[in-house]
Amino acid sequence: MVTSFLETPIEYLKGVGPARAEMLKKELQIFSFGELLSFFPFRYVDRSKIYKIEEIKDDSSYFQVKGTITRISSAGSHRFKRLTATITDGTGEIDLIWFQGINWVSGLLSTGKEYIVFGKPSWFNGRLNIAHPELESPSEQPTALSNAIRPFYRSTDNLKSKGLDSKGISRMMKTLLLSDKFTIPENLTEEILGNLRLMGRQEAFINIHFPSDHATLKKAQGRLKFEELFYIQLRLLQQKFIRSHKLDGHIFPKVGDNLNNFYHHYLSFELTGAQKRVIKEIRSDLRSGQQMNRLLQGDVGSGKTLVALMIMLIALDNGYQTCLMAPTEILANQHYQTISGMLSGLGIKMALLTGSTRQAERKKIFGELLDGSMQILIGTHALIEENVLFRHLGLVVIDEQHRFGVEQRARLWDKNIITPHVLVMTATPIPRTLAMTLYGDLEFSVIDELPPGRKPIITRHVYEPRRAEVFKFIRKMIGQGSQVYIVYPLIKESETLDLRNLMEGFETVKTAFPAPEYAISMVHGQMKQQEKDLEMQRFLQKETQIMVATTVIEVGVDVTNAAVMVIENAERFGLSQLHQLRGRVGRGGDQAYCILMTSYKLTAEAKTRIETMVSTNDGFFIAEKDLQLRGPGDLEGTQQSGILNLKIADIVKDEKILKYARNIATDIIREDPVLEKEKNEVLSRHLKMMNKFKENWGLIS
Ligand code: ADP
Ligand code: MG
Repeated sequence: MVTSFLETPIEYLKGVGPARAEMLKKELQIFSFGELLSFFPFRYVDRSKIYKIEEIKDDSSYFQVKGTITRISSAGSHRFKRLTATITDGTGEIDLIWFQGINWVSGLLSTGKEYIVFGKPSWFNGRLNIAHPELESPSEQPTALSNAIRPFYRSTDNLKSKGLDSKGISRMMKTLLLSDKFTIPENLTEEILGNLRLMGRQEAFINIHFPSDHATLKKAQGRLKFEELFYIQLRLLQQKFIRSHKLDGHIFPKVGDNLNNFYHHYLSFELTGAQKRVIKEIRSDLRSGQQMNRLLQGDVGSGKTLVALMIMLIALDNGYQTCLMAPTEILANQHYQTISGMLSGLGIKMALLTGSTRQAERKKIFGELLDGSMQILIGTHALIEENVLFRHLGLVVIDEQHRFGVEQRARLWDKNIITPHVLVMTATPIPRTLAMTLYGDLEFSVIDELPPGRKPIITRHVYEPRRAEVFKFIRKMIGQGSQVYIVYPLIKESETLDLRNLMEGFETVKTAFPAPEYAISMVHGQMKQQEKDLEMQRFLQKETQIMVATTVIEVGVDVTNAAVMVIENAERFGLSQLHQLRGRVGRGGDQAYCILMTSYKLTAEAKTRIETMVSTNDGFFIAEKDLQLRGPGDLEGTQQSGILNLKIADIVKDEKILKYARNIATDIIREDPVLEKEKNEVLSRHLKMMNKFKENWGLIS
């Protein structure tokens, strides 16, 4: 098979050879010419501008100056030798320092001669210096492809040892771009290129690596960002189309006794407008004859579980079984307790299946699932084990999507000839842009309204030295019958450190809240499930007033009587996590409080997080902020998806481009879903190629 230019293995590039090729594969996953070309600079430095030395105020970036060497001196001996050349441009002085290659460098330098110096200056003893600057004599500038704007590439120590630092990588790019076979086929249609006035693909690749000027660089970046986001969308939308047209869904036409009974006799409150709207949206999916894939988003306590429960009852009313999968045993347990509580008296057969379900019980459940008598199964990952088989599973509800790999979602579907409807609930609000990129193939429902009567949680930031006041407040609240959470951060690097942190905290709390007046529960990740459950139970039953815990209580656990959440070392938590934790209180009707304890030492970013928490309870706003602060790579669940390994686009900054890409992809798929029209051939060809290279993308949906 003739490989195209872009598919040529990287070792065939002049100057690369086997050793470097090996390193490129290992360190940067660059296997082919195409992958090298898609290894974009992470930064550019304008080398057309020459600064005056007096203009250099900060030492955070690279500068280029032009000056004359006034002094050359060397100091130290042997391995600690140092060469210093002082340069001036009449506005100030800079010391240029070399620790290596001294003999060679000193041969290049002479006093009284003019140089262009480029590097990252720093201040030392009131003097500016640049270690290992780049030097050129003014006559050398500018050369052919060493353009005015210089690209910088990420590299690694291993690569550098093989001569592949940023400059080395740039040299490889140059070799590639100047190769006589160099050609990059266009992968967007004439129509798109014309309508959006995008730069051609080949031109874009040349200019991303060797931009001729700023405007051209911007156009090149715009084009490649669009291309990247567009293909993600095109793919997701095509999959969505194929699925909805190929996958038949069970039809749930009716509402029967279960739902009616529950709604009229067991539900003690009115549904919120948002809940009603969402139920309507879901019901229309369930009647459509196509399989539902819907993401239900809503802030903590917005009533998602209740919505899910009602949908589950509709499944039962139509003669199907249903299951609900939770990410942890505690949560599965709690769902089981609440749901069996809410449904008691309706005569529905339900069971809990987790890792700790006994063998005999398991067997019994499996039998009842197969003969169809088991109607609702609630559990953890245990639900998707090989031997869990339903007679007619109609609906799967997944709580807290983030904790599950997408692969698991797929496995659930595989069990039936007609795939069950899937409703995914998440309390972690996903910023719009991220959701669009990540779950572009799902339908969305959003509960954007809290049940009436909830008072917004009051959040305060308290510095460590004022702990006594916090404890006093806790005493007062407990005196009024409330319960209190005190949460310690998980220190990922060391589980023992975690525990110590928690234990010390526990001791402090115990001293401040002595028995027998106070009783304290503790839950952490290293306890056995049974112990955890026991402690949680004690807290739930109000036998204890204070729950000291690590973040294991983060998701879902519902203790309506808890009105105070104290978060220790709050600066250590991410925004979304803080918000999740705060959501554990304020679930009853009482005024709830969240207290963020920190030391005085806060980074600017930590300060922003704390201020954001104090100023708002809006989960979507917080999620957006989180995305801005941390970038998508750190958001829970996004790493595994792989889809966020964006090479050039940025989900936060390029929201506008993403929207264009989304709209255009939508129009194309609507008009030509499987891309069989001639004008779209270029698109389908490129998609096929992507599929070939990125097999694992398939897991995403
Ligand atoms: P989520 O799953 O979104 O966190 P839940 O469904 O667990 O929210 O609801 C949180 C609490 O609010 C539960 O105690 C639930 O019974 C209650 N609740 C749900 N919907 C309403 C409503 N419309 N009016 C009053 N209370 C509600
Ligand atoms: Mg919930």
